[in-house]
Amino acid sequence: MNATTLLHRHKLKKTPVRLGIINALQQSGTPLAEGDIRKALGDIYDRVTFYRSIQTLLLSGIVHRIVADNTTIRYALKYNTDGNKRKTDHAHFFCRRCNTVVCLNEVSTRKYKVPEGFIAEQCEVIIKGLCNKCSGINE
Ligand SMILES: [Zn+2]
Ligand SMILES: [Zn+2]
Repeated sequence: MNATTLLHRHKLKKTPVRLGIINALQQSGTPLAEGDIRKALGDIYDRVTFYRSIQTLLLSGIVHRIVADNTTIRYALKYNTDGNKRKTDHAHFFCRRCNTVVCLNEVSTRKYKVPEGFIAEQCEVIIKGLCNKCSGINE
């Protein structure tokens, strides 16, 4: 599904920055940092428009944000390459060596039991360690 179709499906106007963000995330395959998206946007990047656009895409459910630690925030599409929606409750992997974040589409987060009177709205699971490229390297 291309960027135009995605925006149309979510009843959002096509703007150059929205299109650019979606295209960058689609081409990447792995979640991207703001800096990576900025590079992909080139001349059309400006901070304010970027934040507004990413907010819109997050709220509409086109994009999800992964906060791996204080300094590592990544963005990824909520759609797989075939255009199907990803499970929203998938876990993420954060590699401490190369700082790569991966959507683990096949790994669901479980439902945790919370105390009486609490309402769980969201549960994020970040698994930290070494990715398959880094795990073979001796420290
Ligand atoms: Zn790694
Ligand atoms: Zn993800």
